[in-house]
Amino acid sequence: MKFITAVHQGRALPGVLSPDESGVYFFKEILGEEGPDTLLSFIQLNEKIEDSNSEGIRDQSSRNTALEKIRRFISDSENIPVPLDQCVVLAPIPRPLRNIICLGMNYQDHVKELKGADGKPRPIPKVPVYFGKMASEIIGTGGVIELHEDATDSVDYEVELVAVIGKGGRNIAAEKAYDHIFGYTIMNDITARDLQGRHQQFIRGKSLDTFTAMGPAIIYKDAVDEPVELDLSCEVNGEERQTSNTRNFIFDLPYVISDFSKGTTLQAGDFIATGTPGGVGKGFTPPKYLKRGDKVVCKIEKIGTLCNKVEE
Ligand code: MG
Repeated sequence: MKFITAVHQGRALPGVLSPDESGVYFFKEILGEEGPDTLLSFIQLNEKIEDSNSEGIRDQSSRNTALEKIRRFISDSENIPVPLDQCVVLAPIPRPLRNIICLGMNYQDHVKELKGADGKPRPIPKVPVYFGKMASEIIGTGGVIELHEDATDSVDYEVELVAVIGKGGRNIAAEKAYDHIFGYTIMNDITARDLQGRHQQFIRGKSLDTFTAMGPAIIYKDAVDEPVELDLSCEVNGEERQTSNTRNFIFDLPYVISDFSKGTTLQAGDFIATGTPGGVGKGFTPPKYLKRGDKVVCKIEKIGTLCNKVEE
């Protein structure tokens, strides 16, 4: 199942893609008008249902959760979806719960392409490099990236796998980490390299308006094998810049979820962005930063394609 948020007849609504991905079934049709009106609240509600069910009901098939209702609904070919060409697809969760939890330098080839202030390659991190990315409004596929030329001259792209937390918790054991994931999506962690470097901390260079693109969908976790090993890539104007597989993480998802949750409660709806592979614009000589009119396409196997244009 792939969950999206889309505008239809003037309303932004959560829904699920039809099996052939040409249309969407909105939750209000499946769960009624009283159902969750955002994908974030759906994920939060699902956490509560899972919690109460885990008390007594062990048999998955007897659960009458919203998820099961949705699964049954989309498998019934008599239910006709709304064609996607009648909708505008937004980011799956356009307004996040709080800052996105991000990893820096989590692929070896990306660490190698980044030079320190002394011009020498950086060492491979021994502990995860965490930072927060602020986005009051996340843009979706088709959203326009602003260049903010009065603030930066070096806007870069970064394709990343994002894990969406479905079940919160603190001190989560690595062996239980996947139980806490709801699903996965694609992020372009757009970055102002000059601001990132100048201010020491990353939040400024990572948080300009339109610098977080996500989507097109959150794929439910049962469609992705564990451990998560997915091909990912990014191309700019048809030129492939980044290509890797998430098996190349320096710190994998179970480790990161376990490590970050030591003393910090993760919440349903939190995003964990897992870092980007080599091939970012900054890694080229001379650098290949984004320019007006560029088309950036981020792809992750199974999840889909996140496509954004830079402002003209
Ligand atoms: Mg990044």
